[in-house]
Amino acid sequence: MWVKLTPTEMIAASQKRYRSRIKGSLFIGVSICGLSLLSSSSLFAKTREEHPHPPHFDGGGPLFPQIGQLPSTVLFGFIGAFAFYFFASRPGKPTMICMKCGTAKYADGSLQCKCGGHFEDMNNLKWVES
Ligand SMILES: [Zn+2]
Repeated sequence: MWVKLTPTEMIAASQKRYRSRIKGSLFIGVSICGLSLLSSSSLFAKTREEHPHPPHFDGGGPLFPQIGQLPSTVLFGFIGAFAFYFFASRPGKPTMICMKCGTAKYADGSLQCKCGGHFEDMNNLKWVES
């Protein structure tokens, strides 16, 4: 059966959701940085292998200035992490559960269930075996 969380459990549950969003954002950010650094360095190594004397452009810099890519890589990582955090914490429609019959629905403003029970935000409930 569904039971309401105690205030302490509600705080713990929201902290848990917050932490999982932070973890997800960090994971996305680090993955983007890691992947793009990895691909740019392997690209760099391959180019160096094929062209021991890489062609120089006007400024005379190397074709793939890896250090120059670092800020944009980190920037992309940050953007990805922020985008994830934003979407994960966007207040979507909460799932509502009827305390009496267990019917689930998205929040639509009505808390009254057809069975006579009333709906509660699923984030404030937990399932216990009766
Ligand atoms: Zn109901």
